[in-house]
Amino acid sequence: MEKHEKEKKKLGLSTKIFIALLTGAVCGVLIHYYMPEGYFRDTILINGILYVLGNGFIRLMQMLVVPLVFCSLVCGAMAIGDTKTLGTVGVKTILFYLCTTALAICVALGIASLINPGVGLNIALPEDATEVATTQVDFAETLLNIIPKNIFTSLSTGDMLPIIFFALFVGILLAAMGNRVSTVANFFSQFNDIMMEMTIAVMKAAPVGVFCLIAKTFAGIGFDAFVPMLKYMGSVILALAVQCFVVYQVMLFVFTRLNPFKFIKKFFPVMTFAFSTSTSNATIPLSIDTLYKKIGVSKQISSFTIPLGATINMDGTSIMQGVAVVFIAQAYGIPLTPAAIATVIATATIASIGTAGVPSVGLVTLSMVLTSVGLPTEGIALIMGIDRILDMLRTAVNITGDAVCTTIVAKQQGAFNENTFRADN
Ligand code: ASP
Repeated sequence: MEKHEKEKKKLGLSTKIFIALLTGAVCGVLIHYYMPEGYFRDTILINGILYVLGNGFIRLMQMLVVPLVFCSLVCGAMAIGDTKTLGTVGVKTILFYLCTTALAICVALGIASLINPGVGLNIALPEDATEVATTQVDFAETLLNIIPKNIFTSLSTGDMLPIIFFALFVGILLAAMGNRVSTVANFFSQFNDIMMEMTIAVMKAAPVGVFCLIAKTFAGIGFDAFVPMLKYMGSVILALAVQCFVVYQVMLFVFTRLNPFKFIKKFFPVMTFAFSTSTSNATIPLSIDTLYKKIGVSKQISSFTIPLGATINMDGTSIMQGVAVVFIAQAYGIPLTPAAIATVIATATIASIGTAGVPSVGLVTLSMVLTSVGLPTEGIALIMGIDRILDMLRTAVNITGDAVCTTIVAKQQGAFNENTFRADN
């Protein structure tokens, strides 16, 4: 009996969220088909309990966005500031990271537009979103708005682009000014730690939030919601697979002539680790070690590029965000103009820089991408339930992207040992 209880306690968060997802879907379908309409079902249960608990969880996530992105960008920029010491390696790595991320979003947008995961959901647009969705964006103003007139106004309204601009500026100066500002630098990195802890704490409420959000969705739509959700998952998984096994491997072969199959075989244990922990940050040591011992990348390069990649290069995350944008736009029946698509590519690349390498942060920064093109952030509720599984897969892709770019840069810098790569270790 005691043993049984212990086993119960051991259930990890991902398992709990997955159970919440399934039970939420089942309860929602049962409510939709078997519970008689009326005050109790509609007002108390669906729009009362399920709505408050589900949206309460979304609010908790939204609460994290501004401070989390701000601190994580300041810290990321501080790391980039150090690239001076590494000269060309830094510039090359950052360029590779940015290009692979933009490419990843294009793969995601392409696949999502082919599969059309959100078509058929027909969800009513929240009232306040209608205006934003149809507002024409003036390019010159958008560009100017990147520079905040008053950073505190931007912070309080959650206006992401000026926040990012200011955060990057602060981070670069912190790195440049060194010891003189070590107190402030420490403040930001410690505040960053607090935000990560807060994210972990908020995620503990995820099973309840997910259960309520999914139950509410299915209670409203019944079985009709299943197919679009599966299509969304399929699109993300397909895009992740294309990025990991086609884009990266072609890049690896073109730039280094190394055997991509051998690379995947040797790097696979690191991917499995990232998959099971859903955190790029925790994978850093194993990644550096594997790249050194099995693939032949000098630690001088990887000890800089891998932590940097875990902070700013999240190709898997931006794939999820690209597909999610298409899915949510289709679910709410909002067409995506070419200008909106260009904005998505730009903001999702920036969001990838601002996403910390810990579980579920990609979902938090997704709201920034959605807002940039006037899509309702409420749409996140639709995909939150299945995100935990996708988080595992995209984290594996995130760290593979870092490793491939690192290997290419190391090979070009002559910091690569061919014999280690060839050996069957
Ligand atoms: N879990 C991801 C990572 O650590 C970040 C995310 O997409 O939520 O790389």
